[in-house]
Amino acid sequence: MTVLNIDKLISNFPLLQQVIALEEVVWFNPNVTTLERGLPYVGLGEQDIHDASLRLQRFAPYLAKAFPETHVTNGIIESELIDIPAMKLALETHYQQPIKGRLMMKKDSHLPISGSIKARGGIYEVLTHAEKLAIEAGLLCEGDDYSKLLEPEFRNFFTQYSIAVGSTGNLGMSIGIMSAKLGFTVSVHMSADARAWKKSKLREHGVNVVEYEEDYGVAVEQGRKEAEQDPRCFFIDDENSQALFLGYSVAGQRLKQQFEQQHISVDKEHPLFVYLPCGVGGGPGGVAFGLKMAFGDHVHCIFAEPTHSPCMLLGVHSGLHDEIAVQDLGIDNLTAADGLAVGRASGFVGRAMERLLDGYYTLTDEHMYQLLSELNQAEGIQLEPSALAGMPGVIHVEQNSEYLARLQIDESTLANATHLVWATGGGMVPKEEMAAYLEKLSV
Ligand SMILES: *Cc1c(COP(=O)(O)O)cnc(C)c1O
Repeated sequence: MTVLNIDKLISNFPLLQQVIALEEVVWFNPNVTTLERGLPYVGLGEQDIHDASLRLQRFAPYLAKAFPETHVTNGIIESELIDIPAMKLALETHYQQPIKGRLMMKKDSHLPISGSIKARGGIYEVLTHAEKLAIEAGLLCEGDDYSKLLEPEFRNFFTQYSIAVGSTGNLGMSIGIMSAKLGFTVSVHMSADARAWKKSKLREHGVNVVEYEEDYGVAVEQGRKEAEQDPRCFFIDDENSQALFLGYSVAGQRLKQQFEQQHISVDKEHPLFVYLPCGVGGGPGGVAFGLKMAFGDHVHCIFAEPTHSPCMLLGVHSGLHDEIAVQDLGIDNLTAADGLAVGRASGFVGRAMERLLDGYYTLTDEHMYQLLSELNQAEGIQLEPSALAGMPGVIHVEQNSEYLARLQIDESTLANATHLVWATGGGMVPKEEMAAYLEKLSV
């Protein structure tokens, strides 16, 4: 590890003064480039996304039976794309600024099985691992009807293997529920931020929940250590996993189809801005990769983080990526947005994706709570605090004339723009917990 000279860092990157003061900040990266130029740094391509999509199709008959709530979509885990016109009005009032483009929301909050964006990446990586084991053991071929995985023979087979993961909550939920359903022995190492209801839900599914007083970084580290001692244990590495990333990336093509179905254009005259809450970076990074591959240079991805956990902004802005944590700047990584409570960004996502991500901003917990309540009032939709982080993005974009000029987006193009807030979680939050959120209490 490099020894950090914080004073020098701050003088090189004055924005960090505001970051350290826990002020809300916005940074549009002037070094972003085209998909053509940025793609080689990702190290993954169209074929990888296609393979992931085919794998999910192979598993669809199994998922449709194993999780009846996915029956209506034939075992494909996908969320709705909706307009939120009443929230648009509420935001205009809140920020005293008109919003020219169309405001939409992607309801990953209501994805089946685990009620968050992690139902994309987490479930995909468990399925990838299960398929590999079963194929190697000669129990499964890619051409099979995968609903045979429901047979006791497979459950017995998977029981010999275990899966471990470190999580702030939602990743643990996805991986725990999916692994337990297949028959794996599964341990979820939960950071202090993880909500009690998530832990008890996992225990109901027979998952071994290990609790920590420390943050996400420690939970991940402990999970990694436990897995290293057992050759039959597979560690899902949220900080570095390409499989997770690819599971998320399938969202790009799926969203493109939804836009086509709803007759919404995305092209030079109709830009698309997408606002993604960011924790360690795998979820928003993978989705952004998929979106870039689907829509090319006409989609602009912007990451949102809590003022107390701005790890990706810090990593990309300073160029230090996972060589710096927010704690190195004296920032505590304590936030009510438990899905985003990560102090050190992924070692892979920022380096792979920084050229293709337009910007980053932070917001306070109070701000998220306020938006949570406004969305509930305006649209009757309830989300967990993390999932609101994308909401102010539209204001930052429409207000930043320098950024818009760089993109060569004028007033009339801006009026044709679609702004998509990626709502990342909340669909499974218990009633009482939601009531407390709505009263802006942290319980
Ligand atoms: C995990 C999560 C995110 C961010 O995903 P990362 O892969 O950690 O960046 C955002 N919102 C919610 C609700 C999450 O659970």
